[in-house]
Amino acid sequence: MADTMKVAVMTGIGQIEIEERPIPIPKEDEVLIRIKSVGVCGSDVHYFVEGKIGDYIVKPPFILGHECSGEVVEIGSRVENLQPGDRVTMEPGIPCGKCDYCRSGRYNLCPNVVFWATPPVDGVFCEYVTHSASFTYPIAPEVSFEEAALVEPLSVGFYASGRAKVEPGRVALILGSGPIGLVTLESLIARGLTQIISVDIFDLRLQKAKELGARWVINAKEEEVTQRVKEITQGRGVDYVFETAGGVSTTQSTVEVVKKGGKVVLVGLPSQSRVELDVIKIIDGELDVLGIFRYANTYPGCVDLLNAGRVDLASLITHRFSLEETGEALKFAHEHKAESIKVVVNL
Ligand SMILES: [Zn+2]
Ligand SMILES: [Zn+2]
Repeated sequence: MADTMKVAVMTGIGQIEIEERPIPIPKEDEVLIRIKSVGVCGSDVHYFVEGKIGDYIVKPPFILGHECSGEVVEIGSRVENLQPGDRVTMEPGIPCGKCDYCRSGRYNLCPNVVFWATPPVDGVFCEYVTHSASFTYPIAPEVSFEEAALVEPLSVGFYASGRAKVEPGRVALILGSGPIGLVTLESLIARGLTQIISVDIFDLRLQKAKELGARWVINAKEEEVTQRVKEITQGRGVDYVFETAGGVSTTQSTVEVVKKGGKVVLVGLPSQSRVELDVIKIIDGELDVLGIFRYANTYPGCVDLLNAGRVDLASLITHRFSLEETGEALKFAHEHKAESIKVVVNL
């Protein structure tokens, strides 16, 4: 095996260059993985275009990418759960394992987490990566590497629906039908819901939501969402509303469309941290407002759903690029939202 690899490095805002770097060596509890597929996430696009998300600021050179899959090529001396040749998907964040959050199982809140492609931690738009064996999960032979890379976004939807403790027979509304809105839809269906309303402004995404099992779709450019939701629910409102669009007005609308005793689940990050909400509606209606930060303990369940064919991640992929074209992939995802859903880089 050669001792250097190709890496797609962000060298400045809107700039990616291919560099040669040494292939990393796995520590005793790590594996070395040859990367096969990396999904382009909204956060990657944001860092690429803006150079920052909130307080996380990119200091080039930096490597983006955190939704990935690959093949194990080497294992550390103490690794027992994996073998070279195993096809795997990787959970991108390694928590400390020692703090209160980690010890109580809420490791997504760990202040010491090391998460790929979150500055200053490099991501995985490269040929090889080392990773903790405990956060590396084997996939079934019939699952493709592309699908396996999308276990990461699926985890967000699965975690959000789990945190809301959704129950069959209830009505859910999903604001935003981008990749996260669609995996939230699939997670709700996997958890037994059948009455789901999906909202977006792009027809391609609404059509996909319909194909995946949304009972109703609303194009927010053509219809007044709050009004339409009232009609669908005969004036009652929905039991759960998931905000995945990260919009200010969509975030505000959550408390307008949910019924009393319902749950508001905030997944998307609005561009501003302060958003005016009708708190009387929250108090009088005893609404539960839940924030969602990444996920915890979701990978085993999500890998199982994918292995069992209970979720469709393959059909979310609309465009494919090579590692050398990583810059084009990020640019494309940024500029072609109406014609694309998920963009992936295949190696
Ligand atoms: Zn992501
Ligand atoms: Zn911790």
